[in-house]
Amino acid sequence: MAETGSLPQTRHLATEIPGPLSKAAIARRNDAVSAGLGMAMPVIVKRAHDAIIEDIDGNRIIDFGAGIGVVNVGNSAPRVVKAVQDAVANFTHTNFTTVPYLEYIEVCEALNRLTPGSFKKKSILQNSGAEAVENAIKIARHYTKRAAVVVFEHAYHGRTNLTMALTAKNIPYKDGFGPFASEIYRMPLPYRFRWDGNPDTIAQDALEIVTHKIEKEIGADRVAAILIEPVIGEGGFIVPPEGFMPGLQEFATKHGIVFIADEVQSGFARTGKLFAVEHEGMTPDMIITAKGIAGGLPLAAVTARAEIMDSSHVGGLGGTYGGNPIACAAALAAIKTIEEEKLVERAAHIGKILVDTLNELKVKYPVIGDVRGRGAMVAIELVKPGTKDPNPDAMTKVIKYCQSKGVLILTAGTYGNVIRFLPPIVITDELLKDGLSVLAEGFATL
Ligand SMILES: *Cc1c(COP(=O)(O)O)cnc(C)c1O
Repeated sequence: MAETGSLPQTRHLATEIPGPLSKAAIARRNDAVSAGLGMAMPVIVKRAHDAIIEDIDGNRIIDFGAGIGVVNVGNSAPRVVKAVQDAVANFTHTNFTTVPYLEYIEVCEALNRLTPGSFKKKSILQNSGAEAVENAIKIARHYTKRAAVVVFEHAYHGRTNLTMALTAKNIPYKDGFGPFASEIYRMPLPYRFRWDGNPDTIAQDALEIVTHKIEKEIGADRVAAILIEPVIGEGGFIVPPEGFMPGLQEFATKHGIVFIADEVQSGFARTGKLFAVEHEGMTPDMIITAKGIAGGLPLAAVTARAEIMDSSHVGGLGGTYGGNPIACAAALAAIKTIEEEKLVERAAHIGKILVDTLNELKVKYPVIGDVRGRGAMVAIELVKPGTKDPNPDAMTKVIKYCQSKGVLILTAGTYGNVIRFLPPIVITDELLKDGLSVLAEGFATL
């Protein structure tokens, strides 16, 4: 296992960013790789451990993105590295529907045990979040024999044809890539910072609007599934107001609709609970997981009530690589790491440092309009001071400043004005605070 555990957890600038080696490699990237792919930070990684990414010029960068909320257990987490090395030496692939293997079964057992709800559950595994969302909708439709799917404003569910239709934002996700799948209905989301109505009754008011629209515009008995992110991810870390999601689920249950939580970004300890729906004591009929599940290896899952998962005919579900044995071994190691390193508690601790520090900055810099999130899934929304007008320019300037000083921070939001914090949950307090001090400097330079 050597080699992996040896990166000092400190920020260090060896060159300007990007350094000469990264610059040269990025020129090759631009020549060889589709222009359709973005690049949040212009450096080439050499290795990464815990919350430090080292680039090929020798810069050590603080990772506030965790590969978009994937390496919750840290970059190259030791248990994950060991599990992958052991698994790959045994066999690399059989296809689970050709010759099954224990690792797949054990990941499903773990998911059935760890996801909320004491009812009998079953799972299937896929390769990506979008593929899991596709399967979730497919299964819910088969089970209910209904077509319509309810989604929300600001939603992000993926980039395949069906999941583009489920996703809210046109640019960059959908523009020019249609036509899209039918029978998708988008509902208003109670986005507290931008909600015009009474803030005290926001959950109840939004619930009335949504259920009324479902009944009048779709017909509740035509709806197969209500799909929602318990913390809206790409849309800007919007936390639905307390009571809204439980109310939705109650409505779903009453009308035989499958209530699906897309926990792809919010799951696996990220929010200070193993799954974000636990903050409101919810037990969704179906939960979709991916990102944080396997310490960086591609894996995703759908877990639901057994009767829903068993409704499909044999052969109706599957795929070549879904639940690859090496990714499964990584997932079992990541789950063990979350449990043994107490990362749920750790995420809550990180969240407190983030929210306290960001609220201090908000007092000082009125360009910060809102601080929000749950656990180690926190964001700030930038506005033109004194208004709620989105301020994407300020966001870009602050992000670029942080990058130049060796701090990688991601953006989000329908209006392109949200800075989101998704550090590996193993990040040390010192490193977190160092990164936040760079962020503070960034605001001071505006
Ligand atoms: C990232 C994401 C997806 C898509 O996952 P991929 O692995 O990129 O296909 C779906 N839902 C949510 C909430 C996500 O954050």
